[in-house]
Amino acid sequence: AVFLENVRKDFGKVTVLKNINLDIKEGEFFALLGPSGCGKTTTMRCIAGFENPTSGSIKIGNQEVNRFAPNQRNCGMVFQSYALFPHMNVFDNVAYSLNIKELRKGNPFKKIAVYTRMLNSRIVKYSKPIEEKVMGILEYVELQDHAHKLTGELSGGQQQRVALARALIMEPEVLLMDEPLSNLDLKLRHTMRNTIRRIQQDLKITTIFVTHDQEEAMSMADRIAVMKDGEILQVGTPTDLYSHPKTSFIADFVGTSN
Ligand code: ATP
Repeated sequence: AVFLENVRKDFGKVTVLKNINLDIKEGEFFALLGPSGCGKTTTMRCIAGFENPTSGSIKIGNQEVNRFAPNQRNCGMVFQSYALFPHMNVFDNVAYSLNIKELRKGNPFKKIAVYTRMLNSRIVKYSKPIEEKVMGILEYVELQDHAHKLTGELSGGQQQRVALARALIMEPEVLLMDEPLSNLDLKLRHTMRNTIRRIQQDLKITTIFVTHDQEEAMSMADRIAVMKDGEILQVGTPTDLYSHPKTSFIADFVGTSN
């Protein structure tokens, strides 16, 4: 579960998030929907710990995380740009974060540098449990036959599934997805909606999904928060928003008036 209480974010004199309150339930697929510039990404960056709110509180589970660094927050992230390592194969991309987590114990900097150098010259040997775990998750996203390809050889949808596998292998408490489908063509976007939803429901992982595409939010989410100008206008199920939009902006945005 994720809670935001009176979260405000200023950049200089500009208030980008005004007073965000969210109560996202365990296992829920929750969409943040709104037009460009309304503050969706900033909200996600605050939850992930890449930005600090100017005021207000963020909780993941029962834990207040305001002072936690991103790697202490147990959030998996998938972005619009896949942010994969192009010189590594699919397997290494997914195993990387898992191994980094292991290597953080002990003398982290030296170990991580050595590990990265070894990956670059492709001489890494993985332990059996790591190998099984990575192959298991690749199977899950239907990429088991592509494990040894460089990520640049994959289609957009396949690359996005690598990014998803890489996030999921850390067994995060919360999955944050920021416009993960907007680089894909229309047909792939529809297939990926189903893939993401299937995996999310299988794992029952609490997911926050940012999109400016109302149809995407309406077809995927358990609940949706409609945002505009740094504020949340309404939170509800797709049916609630469709049949009882609170404002004409929401009615327009979710398509009631079309
Ligand atoms: P989009 O869908 O276009 O990504 P968004 O809803 O995700 O939009 P944000 O990226 O959160 O919106 O941006 C909200 C506002 O905050 C925008 O006006 C943006 O210019 C501003 N903003 C975001 N990051 C910064 C920053 N680091 N410094 C100053 N202003 C910022």
